[in-house]
Amino acid sequence: MKYLLDVASLELSPEHCTGCGRCTEVCPHAVFVIRDKRAVVTDRDRCMECGACVSNCPSGALRVQKGVGCAAALINSIITGGEPSCGCSGSSDTKGGSCC
Ligand code: SF4
Ligand code: SF4
Repeated sequence: MKYLLDVASLELSPEHCTGCGRCTEVCPHAVFVIRDKRAVVTDRDRCMECGACVSNCPSGALRVQKGVGCAAALINSIITGGEPSCGCSGSSDTKGGSCC
């Protein structure tokens, strides 16, 4: 699943990465792979900004603004029992189509 294109706030600092692989284990959307003993972002548009990788990275190599994108919409829908919506679902001017 992809979300809005080119808006994910995910940042990886390769110089801080130790290649431990934790991010590949916890990311629900397989955003990372390990290449040459370092994490690589394969497709940042798959990131739902859940923050799991940041919370589990032992070396502070990752940053993301949690809860600013579609992950927030999904969580809010679970809490409220309503339909997921972050304001871009079904919008004809949404880059990349649907998100939630
Ligand atoms: S914030 Fe969540 S979805 Fe995005 S790369 Fe990290 S673990 Fe994966
Ligand atoms: S969890 Fe952090 S240190 Fe470990 S591979 Fe991923 S980015 Fe690198």
